[in-house]
Amino acid sequence: MEQVASYCERATAAGVTEIALTEHLFRFDQADGVLRGWWDADPDAGLRSAMATYWDEERGADLDHYVEVVLAAKAAGLPVVLGLEVDFYRGRMDDVARLLAGYPFDVLLGSVHWLGAWGFDNWEVAAFAAAWDGRAVENIWCTYTEALEELAASGTCDVLAHPDLVKVYGRRPGASTLDECHARMAEAAARSGMAAEVSSAGLRKPAAEEYPAPSLLAEFKRLGVPVTTASDAHRIDHVADRSPDLRGVLVAAGYDSLCAFDGRTAKSVAL
Ligand SMILES: [Zn+2]
Repeated sequence: MEQVASYCERATAAGVTEIALTEHLFRFDQADGVLRGWWDADPDAGLRSAMATYWDEERGADLDHYVEVVLAAKAAGLPVVLGLEVDFYRGRMDDVARLLAGYPFDVLLGSVHWLGAWGFDNWEVAAFAAAWDGRAVENIWCTYTEALEELAASGTCDVLAHPDLVKVYGRRPGASTLDECHARMAEAAARSGMAAEVSSAGLRKPAAEEYPAPSLLAEFKRLGVPVTTASDAHRIDHVADRSPDLRGVLVAAGYDSLCAFDGRTAKSVAL
């Protein structure tokens, strides 16, 4: 609770009026019961084994405890909402939805961090880093986009988090593939009724650009996709990181409002 309070203090000082706390679902033991072994379908034994190791290193938290702490912070008047970041698990999103239906979440972020058993944005795992060199960038982007489309179509989550995360290491395909992927990402969001997250995390990565790219944000705007903002802070000094920069890109794209969530219902708030 003290940790939550100090994050809130820092956010408030930076002009942020509400924070969604969004721990990753896969870190909770309750997810293990529903999802363990999802990586078995990947034909690459090295990636399967790396994912199994990563999964076990990361898990161990208790979802009930997390929910209790956030609800207590809310009840104490801190400006927080109960969120969760849910990764895409092909063929298992109904199980995920059933598990989460028992909790009073305000907002569920949907994200693609894994393509098959490949944690493409995790270069700290050697097998994951090496996999970038064995594949064509065009194919990686198309596979990522397809996963994002399936995630959106599953209807499990409310917000597409860091929608073009696949650019994390700065490897981008040629213009025609890039444009096609952006168009498909924006259509997936619009069709599903989800919001898209505008996050400063990409500015701290080799991509050196906020998620989404300005051209993708323009496409979201054109299709009427509402947006949220995030710093994706995994530590306190990243709370509200570069929020003035995000405001700038939102204004440039023509947005004058953001989307907030209460009990998984969206409402519009002035930018
Ligand atoms: Zn994420």
